[in-house]
Amino acid sequence: MNGSIFLWMIKGIPCSAHSFSRLLYMNGLVRSLEDVGLPPFLQELSSVVIALLDENSNVLAANRGFLRLAPPQEASSGQPWNVRSLFVNPRLEDVQALAPYHGGALLLYRGILNVALEDQPCRSLQGHIYRWQEGRLLVAAEYDVEGLEMLGATVMQLNEELAETQRQLLRASRGLKRNEATIRELMQTDSLTGVGNQQRLDEALTAEVERSQRYHHLLCLLITDIDHFKDVNDHHGHALGDEVLKRFALLLREHCRQSDLAARLGGEKFVILLPDISLENAVACAERIRQQLESQPLVGQIGRVTASFGVAMLDRDEESSDFMRRADQALYRSKKEGRNRVTQSVVAEQNAVPDVGCC
Ligand code: GH3
Ligand code: MG
Repeated sequence: MNGSIFLWMIKGIPCSAHSFSRLLYMNGLVRSLEDVGLPPFLQELSSVVIALLDENSNVLAANRGFLRLAPPQEASSGQPWNVRSLFVNPRLEDVQALAPYHGGALLLYRGILNVALEDQPCRSLQGHIYRWQEGRLLVAAEYDVEGLEMLGATVMQLNEELAETQRQLLRASRGLKRNEATIRELMQTDSLTGVGNQQRLDEALTAEVERSQRYHHLLCLLITDIDHFKDVNDHHGHALGDEVLKRFALLLREHCRQSDLAARLGGEKFVILLPDISLENAVACAERIRQQLESQPLVGQIGRVTASFGVAMLDRDEESSDFMRRADQALYRSKKEGRNRVTQSVVAEQNAVPDVGCC
């Protein structure tokens, strides 16, 4: 029999009865296909399953692919090798019952053959079962390579989709982090002036006091409050009062270094936290702001506005609340002594800045 003709049958095109005539006369124990005249390469193919079965589903001849599918223990014991239970779907007895033999090769079934040894997972083959003479069946099938390829392609596509989903999740997560950062920034920002709010100051003050005490760095605090701000509102209206607050915050920021933090405590009271700076330099910073404010109007229509200042430098082991209170007391002293001035708070072992009010 011509091998290529046989392969046509395997691929689903039944070939002539003559092509298998030699198989029809096979009998007895399992024999190799080669023994019954098939081309030797069919016998050795392990991806193609070929078997000739008698009317009781005993194997008459089989190739390597079939042996691989169901090793014939029974055949080696001299008994007929029965494979009825191997065919789960369709069942061989059902196929047998489909049509009697009327001569020639009759295709009884074409499609998936589900086969399984007892207690083993089911395997799917793509193939045909033919009616052969004397109630014999010829099974010709192949492992479902196309199906596997399709499955492989589907798995690859799923992988790609999974990777894309992961990329989207990553982008979403980055977006979420950015949004979180923005929300956090907004929550710690004074909406009118754009400087930090009380919450931002509290966090920064706690962190800077701890850092300063651990590494013995200097830390200063400047508190300022616009003088007679109520009059500004009363004479020029709340909206212009707001404008003064915005310009004042801007002025404070202009005098800040990168590491400084400007924050609004509420109303017209602001703070600048100044890490790594001496009391002398912090007082000088306050004095510069005071002078600039005094020398040019923040808002044209309103004219000159002044502010009072309190400055303190962190003492050794001082609590942040005490530190804040001292700076505030210095500011209060500035107010009390006539406003538009800078007052320093000095504790033991700190050197007061000459010619500057002290408390
Ligand atoms: P002092 O020199 O003692 O600081 O007097 P002051 O008038 O500045 O202080 P006072 O506490 O008497 O008045 C502060 C005013 O600031 C009263 C309040 O209505 C006003 N104020 C508080 N917050 C805002 C705000 O956000 N915008 C405006 N325009 N005014 C505000
Ligand atoms: Mg005020």
